[in-house]
Amino acid sequence: MNKKYEVVIIGGGPAGLTAGLYTSRARLNSLLIEKGLVGGQIVNAERVDNFPGFPEGISGFELGQLMYQQATKYGLKVIIAEATGIELREEQKVVKTTEGNFIAKAVIIASGSERRQLGIPGEKEFTGKGVSYCATCDASFFREVPVAVMGGGDAAITEALHLAKFASKVIVIHRRDQLRASRLLQEKAFSEPKIEFLWNTVVDEIEGEDLVKRIKLHEVKTGEKSALNVAGIFISIGLKPNTDYLKGILPLDPTGYIITNDKMETEIPGIFTAGDICRDSAKQAIIAAGSGATAAIYANKFLY
Ligand SMILES: Cc1cc2nc3c(=O)[nH]c(=O)nc-3n(C[C@H](O)[C@H](O)[C@H](O)COP(=O)(O)OP(=O)(O)OC[C@H]3O[C@@H](n4cnc5c(N)ncnc54)[C@H](O)[C@@H]3O)c2cc1C
Repeated sequence: MNKKYEVVIIGGGPAGLTAGLYTSRARLNSLLIEKGLVGGQIVNAERVDNFPGFPEGISGFELGQLMYQQATKYGLKVIIAEATGIELREEQKVVKTTEGNFIAKAVIIASGSERRQLGIPGEKEFTGKGVSYCATCDASFFREVPVAVMGGGDAAITEALHLAKFASKVIVIHRRDQLRASRLLQEKAFSEPKIEFLWNTVVDEIEGEDLVKRIKLHEVKTGEKSALNVAGIFISIGLKPNTDYLKGILPLDPTGYIITNDKMETEIPGIFTAGDICRDSAKQAIIAAGSGATAAIYANKFLY
């Protein structure tokens, strides 16, 4: 297998695939390294209604496949391997992977982030069937039905406020007795009649048949157990960027996200980044795709 490329892209989600589309269309010899399923997180979305160009919506899996087809049409090479590190050798970057080392003149890091999971029974089984990690993406599927939101930070309360536009009732379940969200968000949530709060409570199990029907809970102080009938549960307990393999190589912010500028450049010349992995990314597919295009355009300018 060829081991030398002009551009190596790490991650095959919307950011990496769009970067690959642009670099390969610019006739740069490009390799994309993906450790799992090509398409990234968006393949988990049952329906994507907010990606321009699909007025009827599209399944996340199909969107991922179409992005892959379009990127590889122009010669992008894709391999399944996990990137485990990057070594700088003068002008060259050596991308270390589980399938060997690849040498690149420029690297685009697009390895995304993962939604933190509760790790409780039923969570995996019902993901996409009532369990969601993204209200912006899925709220409209829960019209006039009760839903729960797990979490108490800005993201959870933003999700709850968004869900209140669709659901009949939104129950925010938080393991503490007060929210961590900003005061402004708290005020909005407390004055929204559809939002209710369950304090000092955690979810133990998610139950249903084809779709979620109820969640089992317990009160952390008293241990008292209860159950709640809901059609959905939105888990918003934070995100984890996939940057463990970059520690000590690139400067990361305290939460592990990559610091970048408007050109998607990192502090290391020739290393660019794109998508959810970037600090302050709005974590949407279109934004990931846009930043992938930006990274590819500036990688091309860096090279020639
Ligand atoms: C259930 C769900 C529904 C969603 N619905 C929508 C929606 O309707 N609309 C919307 O705009 N957004 C939606 N999103 C968000 C959207 O999927 C993300 O914003 C987008 O996928 C981010 O793209 P990305 O390329 O930056 O990262 P990702 O999609 O996370 O892709 C990163 C890729 O890198 C790979 N990777 C990670 N580490 C390594 C490594 N070390 N080596 C090699 N490969 C690696 C991962 O396997 C992954 O495939 C949804 C997300 C989820 C989870």
